Amino acid sequence: MEEGFTISKTEFIAYLHCSFKFYILKELNNDAKSGATWITDLTDHRPDIQEGLKWHQWFNDFYNKYGEDIRNGVYPIINGKDEILKKKFIDLEIKRYNNSPQFWEPIGTEFMLNDNYLKGKIDRIDKVNEQGHCRIIEYKKNPGFFDKEELLFYTLLLSNTLPHPGLPGIIQVTQIGTYYYNIGEFNIDSISLNERQKFEQFLHNIRKEMLQPNLAKNQNCNFKRTNCLYHEICRRIRIEKTDILSDF
Ligand code: SF4
Repeated sequence: MEEGFTISKTEFIAYLHCSFKFYILKELNNDAKSGATWITDLTDHRPDIQEGLKWHQWFNDFYNKYGEDIRNGVYPIINGKDEILKKKFIDLEIKRYNNSPQFWEPIGTEFMLNDNYLKGKIDRIDKVNEQGHCRIIEYKKNPGFFDKEELLFYTLLLSNTLPHPGLPGIIQVTQIGTYYYNIGEFNIDSISLNERQKFEQFLHNIRKEMLQPNLAKNQNCNFKRTNCLYHEICRRIRIEKTDILSDF
């Protein structure tokens, strides 16, 4: 496997959607690293992505802002936008606190990780027992196609980096979960060693595919998906390619 070929969770999910999308995103990220004026991800411009970032900030601040209230049995005061949705999360957190106060507060939020070939930022990590087991949580607006793959990616990445100085006493990932803030749904699954190993093999094969230079030709899109964030870049690349070919 090529040395230095690192993929982020975002790039991995982009690849599962469309290999061409992956190559565009990877190129943008490489340009950003080399100091070119490209932005890292065009999604930063979309209002729904901006909204998602605000939500993630709210979740990230939640335990500092409202932790004391919840520990003291006081219902946090929430005003303004998305009050109903935010209250759904508060209700869930109060329930979680009442069930196991000692493991309620996350041991990590927006937790950046990287090993030799993967990188990503986990939304939340909870300790689940005294044996050093933990749970990975991702916040999402609504259920998506590759939510499980995303959680498996993080499971592998975190498992590869344990023990970690930022997560004292944690030895194993045993649970994964999502909180869908638009519908107030919280799901948790256990994760076995066997499942993690299967995913590792799957990812190994995907990485091999990514390194095949002709792979971008193998996707089924007709380059006209206007709901794709990279549609415009895609279209231009296609026009350039057609022009080059027509010169012969
Ligand atoms: S327009 Fe189609 S081929 Fe291009 S990145 Fe989007 S989904 Fe992939």
